[in-house]
Amino acid sequence: MDAIIVGNGLAGSLLADALEACGASCAIIDDRNPATASRVAPGIVNPLAGKRMHPSWRVEAQLPAARTTYRRLEARFGVPLFSEMPIVRILRNAFECETFARRLQDPRARPYIGTPNPPGLAPGVLDDPNGSFTAHGSGRLHIDRLQAGIESRLAGRNRFLHDRFDPSRLQRSPGSVRYHTWAAPVLVFCEGWRGRENSFFRHLPFKPAKGEMLTLESDQPLPPTLKNTIINCGKWLLPVGENRFRAGATYGWDRLDHSSTPQGRTAILEALAACLAIPFRVVGQDAGVRPAIADYRPAIGRHPRFPELAICNGFGSKGALVAPWVTAQLAAYLCNETPVDPEIDVRRFDDQTD
Ligand SMILES: Cc1cc2nc3c(=O)[nH]c(=O)nc-3n(C[C@H](O)[C@H](O)[C@H](O)COP(=O)(O)OP(=O)(O)OC[C@H]3O[C@@H](n4cnc5c(N)ncnc54)[C@H](O)[C@@H]3O)c2cc1C
Repeated sequence: MDAIIVGNGLAGSLLADALEACGASCAIIDDRNPATASRVAPGIVNPLAGKRMHPSWRVEAQLPAARTTYRRLEARFGVPLFSEMPIVRILRNAFECETFARRLQDPRARPYIGTPNPPGLAPGVLDDPNGSFTAHGSGRLHIDRLQAGIESRLAGRNRFLHDRFDPSRLQRSPGSVRYHTWAAPVLVFCEGWRGRENSFFRHLPFKPAKGEMLTLESDQPLPPTLKNTIINCGKWLLPVGENRFRAGATYGWDRLDHSSTPQGRTAILEALAACLAIPFRVVGQDAGVRPAIADYRPAIGRHPRFPELAICNGFGSKGALVAPWVTAQLAAYLCNETPVDPEIDVRRFDDQTD
């Protein structure tokens, strides 16, 4: 076996696949923690980021890597994983209209901007007095199906353990680790936000952010113009069934757990109410914690003093777009010592070790 992975979230699943694509084998330990980001995330891929609608960091490399990876995994598992879906972004105010006008002149943003839509895209459904635009290159990843596919593949070979990783049971020596019944040259921590409790990597400046999501139902289906379309009006509305939607998300840095709050619910409903005219019932609410690092870049690579230990973390709120590109680099590094991009190399924090 070539690697033991702790964590079967998006990062661990994709790393297992990337290692296999390099001809390497692995085993995974996962404790199915309820506050896991991957269990809550709707998996939206959006090439234009944030209020300023800038092309997302390294999107030109990451989007093709994501598409290729998800299509390959779909063929392997025989289930649809990634659906291309346009995003209708509603321009809520003068600032957003001006920002959009600037983006239209930006050659990096242009490939992801489709048609500008005048007001009245869906009368009686959308309140869009300033108009909207349709963004392309976007879509939705079924993270749960990806995790289940990797789990069942490894479980069939006795290489999946449902358990909490216990550091006191880890045996390590230079170039080798042992855990459970397994031995490998490296153990990779893909623990999401709980990576900040990992004593080997506590020098990393973790900055996890809690997010809440709602599941909504409407008596009225969306019109054909908005079928299979994600709506962004400050918060997301993602169709997940005929009259069913997921909506979110909030950001919070204080209480890092999977509890749902009335404040979270109100924040999402208020943002939707400003742009959507149809009524919704809340039928579910959940929460998870995003694994972010202070400089908003992933961190991958080996521990500076214990090279038999490695990390793959820091996917923040964009794992579905970023993680295939990053995990492919980590797999190539672990298999062939191919250097990783300096911006995502965990060694950028070496001067912060004890
Ligand atoms: C509300 C919300 C909405 C989001 N929306 C989107 C979105 O639309 N698009 C997008 O791209 N991203 C989104 N994200 C972010 C996305 O979920 C993350 O980038 C990604 O899922 C992180 O994956 P991960 O594997 O690094 O971490 P996690 O998902 O946290 O997975 C870590 C795994 O490791 C396991 N684990 C941890 N410690 C141990 C241990 N000691 N022993 C055993 N197992 C352990 C956990 O049980 C878990 O299964 C959202 C996040 C949240 C919270």
